[in-house]
Amino acid sequence: MPESILSSDRTRFAPSPTGYLHLGGARTALFSWAYARHHQGTFVLRIEDTDRERSTDAATQAILDSMAWLGLTYDEGPFYQSARMPRYREVLDDMIARGLAYYCYMTPEELDQLREAQMARGEKPRYDGRCRPGNTVGKMPPPGVKPVIRFRNPDDGSVVWEDRVKGRVEVANSELDDLVIARSDGTPTYNFCVVVDDIDMKITHVIRGDDHVNNTPRQINIFRALGYEPPVFAHVPTVLGEDGQKLSKRHGAVGVMEYANAGYLPEAMINFLARLGWAHGNDEVFSTQMLCDWFELDAISPAPSRFNTDKLRWLNQEHMKLLPADELGRRLIPFLEKEGVMPGASSPSSTDVVTLFRERATTLVEMARAARFLYVAPERDTAYQELIAQQIQDNNRAALAEIYDEISAIEWTRDAIQSLLKVAAKRHGLKPPQVMMPIRALVAGTLHTPSIDAILYVLGRDETLTRLRVLKTGNEG
Ligand code: GLU
Repeated sequence: MPESILSSDRTRFAPSPTGYLHLGGARTALFSWAYARHHQGTFVLRIEDTDRERSTDAATQAILDSMAWLGLTYDEGPFYQSARMPRYREVLDDMIARGLAYYCYMTPEELDQLREAQMARGEKPRYDGRCRPGNTVGKMPPPGVKPVIRFRNPDDGSVVWEDRVKGRVEVANSELDDLVIARSDGTPTYNFCVVVDDIDMKITHVIRGDDHVNNTPRQINIFRALGYEPPVFAHVPTVLGEDGQKLSKRHGAVGVMEYANAGYLPEAMINFLARLGWAHGNDEVFSTQMLCDWFELDAISPAPSRFNTDKLRWLNQEHMKLLPADELGRRLIPFLEKEGVMPGASSPSSTDVVTLFRERATTLVEMARAARFLYVAPERDTAYQELIAQQIQDNNRAALAEIYDEISAIEWTRDAIQSLLKVAAKRHGLKPPQVMMPIRALVAGTLHTPSIDAILYVLGRDETLTRLRVLKTGNEG
């Protein structure tokens, strides 16, 4: 894209790599991405890995893999907070020098005492500002205490922002403590790093989960102290599980890559995630491009949205129907391979499989399983024997034996196969299913398959004859 048409809108996705990327996180990423794409802006990926104990490389990798699978391409990054420590240090030093932040020498024990005393008086526990510049004049820092750094929060007035999802939010400064922005070991804290990064990365729109709403007034104060107007905020409501509870591991496969492995299409996943809290009229099935064309923050609902597996499955099937057969076939190949079968020159192509099964399967895994019989003859286990015994009986045996012979002779087209079966049934006074069902059972080991002429055609004449041999010989040998 030529630089000239890029807008200055910049969004970011800033996950903490402490677990797999769950659906709520992926939805946040999607909204930030779609916003940037809609406005021809820039989408930045930032990995918030300052919590070294809880951050893992595996989680970072899962985030990158999930974004790649979903097609959420970033224009800048990934930036790692862990690599930006010198920059945070620089800003901390500058804030101290300018009186925007200060060292606080209160020990954890003193803080506990303060809290207890305040609670005993019926007050809300909060830091009392005793180490603020001005309150420590003439006092020496206590020996041996490693100080934290606190942000000097304004005392009066309130912080107000027009949240693009929640509307106007106002928080009185009297409610906000002097936030610790660096721990006693010198490491900067979350709210501080986010602001430094959002400033340095010139973020114009912060779109994130509403679990961060409480952080926002603190961050806004830090932005202003540093001389910057805060970005636009849009806090997106939680995604709830099917049972209305907060989405968690209890709800099954919630890591994005588990959906990839379960045979969902990224297009369907994007469509599904978008509809978790965002809508465009009554549109339910739409492409990723349509989403980018339509996406606006104002259409995000302030109410929590609920996850719904049936809807995801339905959307997946709709998107499977929309993809060209050869493209869907290409995506099916790894799933066929997982079933231990391989489309190839002498076996049905993945496009054949797609054409046969896409109306019936809701995931690629289901499609590959259903198609397995096209590659491997059904196992002749007891269930199979019982099915065959049920289907082949004295009234249709002769018709089926004739069909076997005629299969060798007809032209190998779906029409010819179908008319052969119908005519043979009629000749013997049978209804078509009385010959079609046993043939299904023999070739597929199940009565639930796409139309019989279609599956025999794809299976090929030789393989069909091999599987139907019992019709001629009367035994399985
Ligand atoms: N790292 C935070 C999280 O994963 C997000 C921070 C933000 O978006 O401002 O919840």
